[in-house]
Amino acid sequence: MVFKSAKINAFRTWGLLLTMLGMGLMVLGTAGIVFWGHAGKVFAAVGLVIGLVAMMASLAIYFWAGMLSTSAVQVDCPECGKLTKMLGKTDRCMFCHTILTLDPNQANTNRPHLKAPSPPAADVDHGISPKG
Ligand SMILES: [Zn+2]
Repeated sequence: MVFKSAKINAFRTWGLLLTMLGMGLMVLGTAGIVFWGHAGKVFAAVGLVIGLVAMMASLAIYFWAGMLSTSAVQVDCPECGKLTKMLGKTDRCMFCHTILTLDPNQANTNRPHLKAPSPPAADVDHGISPKG
């Protein structure tokens, strides 16, 4: 599922996972004191430190995703018509997960209006109308 989503969504997924992991570790560490008393303090300390690091990392990922999304290209998805954001030259649509590309050489579209500007030719009709 992670591998089939848009890059920005994947970053958010990982950020969320790390936040959950960090919070879980901190809760577990605190619970260690409750269950094991004095001996649990070491466990709690380790859990709190790792949890804190995980949450810092998730914060960094969120921040990075935010920075990336400001430089992302906004495009209208030709498949579902929604406005989506692309990172790099090739990315998936956030909504329908269609692979989109800005590189005309990689595009294998059969929609004439998406091809590089060319005079109307005989091969315009591929059975799919420009509006889908
Ligand atoms: Zn789409």
